[in-house]
Amino acid sequence: PFDVLVVGGGSAGGSAAIYAARKGIRTGILTDRVGGQVLDTNTIENFISVKQTDGPNLAANLENHVSDYKVDVMAQQNAKRLERKDNFIEVELENGAVLESKTAILATGARWRQIDVPGEEAFRNKGVAYCPHCDGPLFEGKPVAVIGGGNSGVEAAIDLAGLVKHVTLLERSSVLKADSVLQDRLNSMSNVSVIKNAQTTEITGDETVNGLTYVDRETEESHQLDVEGVFVQIGLLPNTEWLDDSIEKNQYGELAVDKQGATNVPGIFAAGDCTDTTYKQIIISMGSGATAALGAFDYMIRNTTP
Ligand code: FAD
Repeated sequence: PFDVLVVGGGSAGGSAAIYAARKGIRTGILTDRVGGQVLDTNTIENFISVKQTDGPNLAANLENHVSDYKVDVMAQQNAKRLERKDNFIEVELENGAVLESKTAILATGARWRQIDVPGEEAFRNKGVAYCPHCDGPLFEGKPVAVIGGGNSGVEAAIDLAGLVKHVTLLERSSVLKADSVLQDRLNSMSNVSVIKNAQTTEITGDETVNGLTYVDRETEESHQLDVEGVFVQIGLLPNTEWLDDSIEKNQYGELAVDKQGATNVPGIFAAGDCTDTTYKQIIISMGSGATAALGAFDYMIRNTTP
């Protein structure tokens, strides 16, 4: 059995595994893919102390760093069930194998909800973006669209307005759902326009994005908007559906954790984008992975037998 079994091998999981292994305890990491979301990223400019890198490089460095330690890496494996038994935690894989560990760290990340229109996949990282903190500066001085009028969409529009030439916010329904204080701020900005009842139907481009088309749901007329970037802000879904209700989640399905990264279930910790942390970034995930590993170690020396 493992002392610490990490489920998910992205930034949070990789960091957790290294911190655990450095305590000299039996550490395993089980993951669908090593690297996680960063594999889908081009330019990364906010991984502090590394001025610029890209996703595949960061993922390769992460894997390399983990392999420097005694960590049992089980890649291309998916966990499908996790259960607290009397003295240990049992994790069942999709291939039927069952693993046991004294503690577990859930670091299964999240995925951006997609609008599923033609062009979204083809222009991903070529104008289609999901993270304003990450990719905003790439669109400096250019016109962009933000899709989604909830808090994240309106926050993104406010954030981008300071960098880009013009922001058009498209909301599918007839009202914005964001908090009114955010809407007030948005309305006070001179380079932002809002289009309601706008159903995006296609993202267009040649090498990179040059526009989008939307249908006005009231008039059913189709319109073209010339933009060089499209930020899709219709939700971030945590990869926690496979966990049962014994582990506390918030209304978004994110795992609730305390300052040690502990969930409500003894011995089960969580880190990164799958948790209720407010901001989702590589450096934040790595920090929370370290926290969860130290939390798990503390738990282990107090509550389990050697
Ligand atoms: P993830 O990276 O999502 O890793 C989770 C891992 O767990 C994945 O490998 C997944 O396959 C695996 N997994 C999920 N479920 C299971 C299961 N049941 N069993 C086994 N394995 C499982 N952040 C920045 O700081 N800077 C940027 O420039 C930046 N750009 C971004 C650009 C894009 C396009 C995207 C999508 C995100 C970007 N981010 C950026 C955000 C950043 O990538 C995430 O905050 C960070 O990667 C989260 O790390 P994580 O380890 O929590 O989750």
